[in-house]
Amino acid sequence: MVSELTEVAIVGSGPFGLSLAAQLSEYGVPFRIFGPPMESWRKHMPQGMRLKSDGFASALYGNETGYTLKRYCAEHKIPYDGLRIPVQLETFVAYGIAFQRKLVPTLENKLVVGLKKAGFASRRLSAHLNRIVRQRAPQGAAQPVTR
Ligand SMILES: Cc1cc2nc3c(=O)[nH]c(=O)nc-3n(C[C@H](O)[C@H](O)[C@H](O)COP(=O)(O)OP(=O)(O)OC[C@H]3O[C@@H](n4cnc5c(N)ncnc54)[C@H](O)[C@@H]3O)c2cc1C
Repeated sequence: MVSELTEVAIVGSGPFGLSLAAQLSEYGVPFRIFGPPMESWRKHMPQGMRLKSDGFASALYGNETGYTLKRYCAEHKIPYDGLRIPVQLETFVAYGIAFQRKLVPTLENKLVVGLKKAGFASRRLSAHLNRIVRQRAPQGAAQPVTR
């Protein structure tokens, strides 16, 4: 059980969660991020799939000077072209994991089972696995409950 308060809690570390975390980190905004990295892509995508998005549009957060898919492919000698070479699923997954290790090292690989009201008003966001998940309201503080 984790009880530290946080300004921002990111539930899920897929492409969007990791991108948000990297951006908050760059801006110096305190946050915590939870979940197995790239799990949807590692476990629930068809084997051998190629991305429908082109290489240039498949980078996680970062501009041309950031840790883009292009840079990852160059580092690992993987053929890359922003438009002409389809991105393989395994390349994208490996890139996402490398991005997490490099830019989001504080990731907590745990499932969030709920967010407890801890401070000001909170509002219900969604039910996940029949559990109520609550997220911090603008003036409040979220208290993630993990296992
Ligand atoms: C077959 C297929 C092909 C696709 N191809 C492309 C493509 O080529 N290009 C493209 O841009 N998009 C593509 N998409 C869409 C893409 O999957 C999504 O846009 C993208 O993954 C969304 O990212 P996300 O981070 O929001 O969510 P996800 O990638 O789904 O990540 C959510 C994460 O949340 C975690 N999580 C869930 N519940 C909890 C919890 N309670 N606590 C902690 N963590 C939790 C999961 O483990 C998961 O890792 C495709 C989708 C499918 C199904």
